[in-house]
Amino acid sequence: MSYAGLMETIGQVNDLLNTQSILNWDARTMMPHGGHATRGKQLATLSVMTRDLLVSDKLRHQLDAAESEVAGKPAGAVERVMVEQVRAALDYHLAIPADLTRRRAELGSNGHAIWAKARAESDFSQFVPILEETVALNREMAEAIGYSEHPYDALMFRFEPGETVATLKPLFARLREALLPLVKAIAQKPEPRLDFLKRTYPVDKQHQFALKMAEKIGYDLNRGRLDTTLHPFEVSFTRNDVRITTRFNPTWMTASLFGALHEAGHGVYEQGVDPAYTRTPFATDLVGLYAVGGVSFGAHESQSRLWENHVGRARAFWEVNFAEAQAFYPEQLGDVSVEEFYRGINRVQPGLIRVEADELTYDFHVMLRTDIEAALIDGSLKVKDLPEAWNGKIKEYLGLDVPNDANGVLQDVHWSSGQIGTFCNYTIGNVMAGQLFAAASADATIAAGLASGNYDPLHAYMVENVHQHGRRYSRDELLVRATGRTLDPEPYIAHLTHKYSELYGL
Ligand code: ZN
Repeated sequence: MSYAGLMETIGQVNDLLNTQSILNWDARTMMPHGGHATRGKQLATLSVMTRDLLVSDKLRHQLDAAESEVAGKPAGAVERVMVEQVRAALDYHLAIPADLTRRRAELGSNGHAIWAKARAESDFSQFVPILEETVALNREMAEAIGYSEHPYDALMFRFEPGETVATLKPLFARLREALLPLVKAIAQKPEPRLDFLKRTYPVDKQHQFALKMAEKIGYDLNRGRLDTTLHPFEVSFTRNDVRITTRFNPTWMTASLFGALHEAGHGVYEQGVDPAYTRTPFATDLVGLYAVGGVSFGAHESQSRLWENHVGRARAFWEVNFAEAQAFYPEQLGDVSVEEFYRGINRVQPGLIRVEADELTYDFHVMLRTDIEAALIDGSLKVKDLPEAWNGKIKEYLGLDVPNDANGVLQDVHWSSGQIGTFCNYTIGNVMAGQLFAAASADATIAAGLASGNYDPLHAYMVENVHQHGRRYSRDELLVRATGRTLDPEPYIAHLTHKYSELYGL
């Protein structure tokens, strides 16, 4: 019964992690401001309890016994993979001294206020001391975790296992080589019509419309709900309760629409995990200590980007659904053609802010941050020289001058939480989405569905090839099973080149 005992303990770890997620969701959507201090304590308590349970003597005994119990099973058998994943996670946590974890948590809780003030006053110098500490601490973390080539590899492991500075280098070089000429050529072209996007769209109608579109792509409202936040996100408390949020701007309807499609894309991933994996390692990130069924941050992002960009921003989607949008918003869209709408929602405009970037320029924001983080961690870039490095890259990639630090190096919240190593997953997600979408849409039934507004066949393909497996297979194993290849940027590049050449007459 040792394997069963281990699984029950992992189930309890999963329960504790899901409880933290619920408290986090509540803090970001419903909680009055005054609740912050005590909520922070509650979360810290649960987080300590979770780690303690994972490294407890009880779990270690159960794990030892479970290993002998499943040793006779063939490699790759579900029970064996689950036990191997628990062992790998245990080794990971035991390698990091508890004191280091505590210091990083403290840094994270102090960092946010300092960053917020520095950003409000657009003064990078206020953020320098704590960022220097963050870099030093993450470097210590990398040494504790271990790596073979670059210390940054150890930090990415938690978010995108297997990805390294060495694997990212050729990927980024290929993306830059293919996409920079497109961005430069589009800058010379006239703007599409945009006036209708800035009309007044009542927030309650936006909410209804966003939900309608999310349901269309397979987001199950019986196990989901949509709420309002400044920064959209998706969070799940098992596959049975998967929530999303979006932001509503009364004079920019596309923010809520594509925000909801993006988060619903994350949501259908979690809703699609095999029910047999609930409360198991395949629905629990035991390394990052987060209750999630998606196998990596990049794999998760592939699903949100696929539904947001490859489906929701496609001409075929609006050829079928624009009449419904017009009926919903007769005053705002009555004088707009489907072609104008399609061109408006796909406008390319290089900008300074990552979260506002369009489909074509987004990856440049990611490459810039990833390269900078790696250089900070290996010491080839000093924190004090960061603004200069940042502004130089923005000029090189997007041709823009950065007027101040608030719109440059201080714009992202990530570093203030003490965390380094999270950025590459956005681009990995784009690349993986391109690869999966190309493979899926080669199927005649799926292609016919996309053309006629039936998204069930594509949804079923993603459940079959990605969602149902939870964390059983690695990202690249999923890709090989679905497309025959590991991560490959060519389908994504072909998608962008074809789409934007046609849109801008290149
Ligand atoms: Zn996302």
